[in-house]
Amino acid sequence: MTKVIFLADRRLPAGPSDSFVAPVPAPGQDLLDRRARPLRDLRISVTDRCNFRCTYCMPREVFDGNYAFMPHSALLSFEEITRLAGVFVRQGVEKIRLTGGEPLLRKNIEALIAMLSELRTPQGRPLDLTLTTNGVLLGRKARALREAGLNRVTVSLDALDPALFARMSDSQFTPDDVMRSIDTAAEAGLAPVKINMVVRRGVNDDQIVPMARRFRGSGHVLRFIEYMDVGNTNGWNMEEVLPSADVLARIGEVWPLAPLESDPMGRVAERWRYLDGGGEIGVISSVSHAFCEGCTRARLSPEGRLFLCLFAAEGHDLREPLRGGASDDQLAARLAAIWGGRADNYSERRAAAPPGSGPAGNTARKIEMSYIGG
Ligand code: SAM
Ligand code: SF4
Ligand code: SF4
Repeated sequence: MTKVIFLADRRLPAGPSDSFVAPVPAPGQDLLDRRARPLRDLRISVTDRCNFRCTYCMPREVFDGNYAFMPHSALLSFEEITRLAGVFVRQGVEKIRLTGGEPLLRKNIEALIAMLSELRTPQGRPLDLTLTTNGVLLGRKARALREAGLNRVTVSLDALDPALFARMSDSQFTPDDVMRSIDTAAEAGLAPVKINMVVRRGVNDDQIVPMARRFRGSGHVLRFIEYMDVGNTNGWNMEEVLPSADVLARIGEVWPLAPLESDPMGRVAERWRYLDGGGEIGVISSVSHAFCEGCTRARLSPEGRLFLCLFAAEGHDLREPLRGGASDDQLAARLAAIWGGRADNYSERRAAAPPGSGPAGNTARKIEMSYIGG
């Protein structure tokens, strides 16, 4: 007999979900997971390749000439991505972020953006369409991306000090290359630009105040991300995590801050403003303050596997039904079943685990950040 679960049953344990079949919600009703979280955001990773080798994401010892990156034939085509995205939008997605690897390495990415920008929510609204990039190719692409329908960009930048930037990104590029791209993106209308800085204690925490100084008053929004235990290759340990509270204390000592309201559902960054009118910053505290309760995000890998948590080991293959001739209704039902069975809360479990007890939960081999894109 088919097992039907109630969409908002919070008592069910965490765990993967394909064996559960959730009802497809009626038009106008939210598709909810087992913790009553709606599906709102979709991250689409368009490539597992990158022109950086950030030590915390793609350490060169692992991602070297022998590493088996995905062949082009395995990647979803733009038509396939757009078709799947349309199904997600039908089920509640309002925001799509393109990521990677480095998404601007995917040839003619602006064509994909143009296709996605045609999608409309069931209420007839256009999507919020964004992209995360390391920035070095953004300068030359910003205008085309904007013209194709991209709304905003997030640019990653971990240090202003050139030597430290080179060490962290393990690349030939400089912070100035990234800064020029940020300016070009803002001029092209992709503003406000969000800047993501991953903070590692003892590595780049001395850049917190210089970065805050650089972006205060610029109109861009700097966000500090706690270093996370994503993937299996970066040798993460808790000592390198600088809690967001410390980041705020260091900045607040120089320029006093006050909290801003943020939406608890789908909230990732906590927002703060400078009391002197210098703009706002954000902190993303996935380690010190888990936000699983409001996690409304799904992730699509470059070859069409759906992951429901950044720390998952297994995805759900959507390429096979897509290429096997499934109709949009069948794909929507499959998505509803997958999302309806979701109960992920890895960061909450990490926070609850006794110190030194190792990885939280059942994920022996987690997916890599460069594959799924954050
Ligand atoms: N290549 C693009 C970039 O760097 O912006 C997009 C993909 S990258 C995987 C997305 C984001 O994940 C970047 O802001 C990066 O700094 C962040 N990231 C990667 N590994 C991380 C980790 N272990 N902890 C926290 N953030 C991480
Ligand atoms: Fe590339 Fe982004 Fe990972 Fe750095 S964080 S290696 S830029 S995918
Ligand atoms: Fe969402 Fe998983 Fe992160 Fe929790 S740990 S916020 S469920 S992605």
